[in-house]
Amino acid sequence: MKKATWQTIPGAMALALVGVIVATLVVEWAWPGLDGLSLALAVGLMATALELPVVLAISVWGTNRSIQAMAESYAREREMEGEAQRREFETRLGNALEMAANEWEVLSIAGRAVTTLVGDERVEILLADNSNAHLERALVSGADEEGPGCSVQSPSQCVAARRGQTQVFSDSEALDACPNLQGRGYGRCAGVCVPVSIMGRTTGVVHWAGAVEDLPERATVEQLEVLANQSGARIGMIRVVSESQLQATTDHLTGMLNRRAFEAKVRDLRDEDVPFSLVMADLDHFKQLNDTHGHEAGDRALRVFVSVVKSILRPGDLACRYGGEEFVLALPNCDAPGATRVCERIREALALAGLDGKVPGFTCSFGVAPPRLGASLQELVNEADAALYEAKHAGRDRAVLLDPVRRAELETRFAVAAESGPDFSF
Ligand code: GH3
Ligand code: MG
Ligand code: MG
Repeated sequence: MKKATWQTIPGAMALALVGVIVATLVVEWAWPGLDGLSLALAVGLMATALELPVVLAISVWGTNRSIQAMAESYAREREMEGEAQRREFETRLGNALEMAANEWEVLSIAGRAVTTLVGDERVEILLADNSNAHLERALVSGADEEGPGCSVQSPSQCVAARRGQTQVFSDSEALDACPNLQGRGYGRCAGVCVPVSIMGRTTGVVHWAGAVEDLPERATVEQLEVLANQSGARIGMIRVVSESQLQATTDHLTGMLNRRAFEAKVRDLRDEDVPFSLVMADLDHFKQLNDTHGHEAGDRALRVFVSVVKSILRPGDLACRYGGEEFVLALPNCDAPGATRVCERIREALALAGLDGKVPGFTCSFGVAPPRLGASLQELVNEADAALYEAKHAGRDRAVLLDPVRRAELETRFAVAAESGPDFSF
């Protein structure tokens, strides 16, 4: 401001001087006889008349310039404020998502973030399932419990997911509006659709819907984009971690627990003093099945067996591929007769599973060790194995419960081995 004043003073003086000179020339040319006071007055009036429009023009121009400068600085300030808000939102969201341990927690954070952005307006997050074939409504936000209610069924039907770019539709009735915006229960609307990428693949969309011509501000759309990007990245990471955890704990051919994971879970049962029956299962004449129908058919049969077992077991039961065509089941709070019934049901279901011709028919033998609190896994495995041996000898395709006499023999033998031999505990 000061600088402008110092620049203005010499300018005004120069202007006044030029005005006086020009006025003197004009007065002398127009009224050659004037002198003294009359001349001074005439020059003064003429100079004022000549300079006034210039002064006015300069002051109007100056005022305009300063108004424009003020407007510009206000806009810049607003922009900087918006940018700071966006950064803060981005940082806070990132911090919150870092703490999310599973997809449910990611979505719950995303829901809260949506509310801070658009209050109780209609927003939903649609995510594809593992096959990427179906979009499921993972989150609904807003005053209306139904949310925007987009009817899109798969990522390939969603314009935003297909193009991998945010789509803004100001009127659902417009010729080029997304067809999925039409026919909503709440009528004509506007929509914003932000794609969600999970592990580099567009597998979802954040969808806002509201009144026609009442679209969110550009900054809000950008924040919805931040939300979609960060949530997608976090879900992707969680999926990768749980996939690798799954790989570390399961058998790759059948998806059943591997031996290490099974042992850890049985250890938990023992720590909590939960009684459980232990079952050893061994597919009958499996070498022959492989030799006759090929290894591929053998693999299919193993998978069929596992799906049959899974269909029979209860949620808390544990099943493990112990090796080759041998499986171990731990059935918590299940007594010996109950465990034998489970084996019988598996046998019956297996007989039916072979009927569709997809795998050659095959059977399975089972050995059942009743619950015994305090026994180690290895002891129970030995007992179930002894019962399985009986089942094989008796003709296969059956379940045999460990004989109490045999159990007593095994207990004695195990006690001797434990005293002198390697550590069997786990
Ligand atoms: P038994 O009724 O006495 O148990 O006879 P068996 O033929 O089932 O037993 P054996 O131990 O002689 O053979 C087990 C066979 O299981 C041999 C092996 O080729 C097959 N096997 C083990 N693991 C796999 C696998 O992952 N895939 C396939 N296809 N076969 C397997
Ligand atoms: Mg075997
Ligand atoms: Mg076998």
